[in-house]
Amino acid sequence: MSFNQFNLDSRLNTAIKRAGFYKPTPIQTSAIPIALAGHDLIGTAQTGTGKTAAFVLPILHKLLNNPGKRTRALIITPTRELAEQIHQTIGIFSSGTNIRSVAIYGGVGAAPQIEALHRGVEIIVACPGRLLDHIQNKHAKLGTVEVLVLDEADRMLDMGFLPDIKRILRHVPKKRQTMLYSATFPKEIEQLASHTLYKPKRVAIGLVRPAYTVDHTLFPVPQHLKSRLLIKLLDQTETKSILIFTRTKHRAQNLAKKIKRTKYKVTSLHGDRTQGQRRAALNGFKQGRYQIMVATDIAARGLDIDGISHVINYDMPGTADAYIHRIGRTGRAQRTGEAFTFVTPDDQALVQKIEKIMKQKLPKKTLSDFDYVVPKPKNQQRTQNRRPRPSSSRRYNR
Ligand code: ADP
Ligand code: MG
Repeated sequence: MSFNQFNLDSRLNTAIKRAGFYKPTPIQTSAIPIALAGHDLIGTAQTGTGKTAAFVLPILHKLLNNPGKRTRALIITPTRELAEQIHQTIGIFSSGTNIRSVAIYGGVGAAPQIEALHRGVEIIVACPGRLLDHIQNKHAKLGTVEVLVLDEADRMLDMGFLPDIKRILRHVPKKRQTMLYSATFPKEIEQLASHTLYKPKRVAIGLVRPAYTVDHTLFPVPQHLKSRLLIKLLDQTETKSILIFTRTKHRAQNLAKKIKRTKYKVTSLHGDRTQGQRRAALNGFKQGRYQIMVATDIAARGLDIDGISHVINYDMPGTADAYIHRIGRTGRAQRTGEAFTFVTPDDQALVQKIEKIMKQKLPKKTLSDFDYVVPKPKNQQRTQNRRPRPSSSRRYNR
């Protein structure tokens, strides 16, 4: 299978070659023809499988095939980073055409977004909240939208965006093509889909099984020795590009501080940082100025970062799904990666769930030259004992 078989606009084929894509991924192979035929579509595939191009290429083809200067496609996505990433992907594939897109998200000034909207764009990539602001202030007009994409729909629901999405939908014409992408397919998504899509075709690839190119290792460790073990592990690992996940933004902040005292260049990505800091962190990590980025789930969800060699779960994620998403950051698009997960005795139940989904036992490893029996310092004992599993309402305070 090659991209030529889709009979895409020749400018797109040129851009695809320039992007270094030789072969469509399985989700692209299945979804692109359906999207080109104008059908509604529900796509389920794990992260890193190439969903972005699976909807961006058909949209661009449609826009080029029948040109018109008005807002014709709307892509809704949960996080600022994803909006930015999709906007950039559109930029890559549409270079050499006069298609314009804008990324709309909060945490940054509205003025440049408003200017872009008034100048005119064919594609809007947006997070729900800020888009609603622009709709209310009459800067964004969605009455001519022909294609709607809901990207990472499960995460948008988790983050409480459903009311916002419903409000946005009222401004989009009923007659349109809708594509919904989700890594998981809980019943709420099924409901949203039944209201939003018309006779959708379904494409499901590698349901919630993590990338097979990733090696998983568990590191049992008492809670209070995690940071020590981490430093030891970093010293023993061929470190290229490491993404570390913590449970909360405070833990991300603290851990980044601890790592900063060592020889490693580190940055962090979490909800307490400003949009400017988040962008600088992400770019610095992508460009290799930082070897390590410490992040929370929300901040790092769906990010496409090339060449991450290791994902380290410093804290176990809240759910087995979240584990799969985190691991999706490495081993992307057939590269190989390693996933290290720190497990405390509290984490056993979740480990079993993950092993069930992955249909394999995850190997456990201990470091021979690490002292695992250092007692807990007195002043930490109370908080340690109270460490709760995040409840669903707390999970997103990140
Ligand atoms: P998803 O949205 O499914 O998590 P992305 O669309 O972000 O995945 O794609 C993951 C990575 O794979 C990106 O770096 C992207 O450039 C790359 N990629 C996507 N499709 C192809 C392809 N056909 N050939 C090579 N690389 C690809
Ligand atoms: Mg994606």
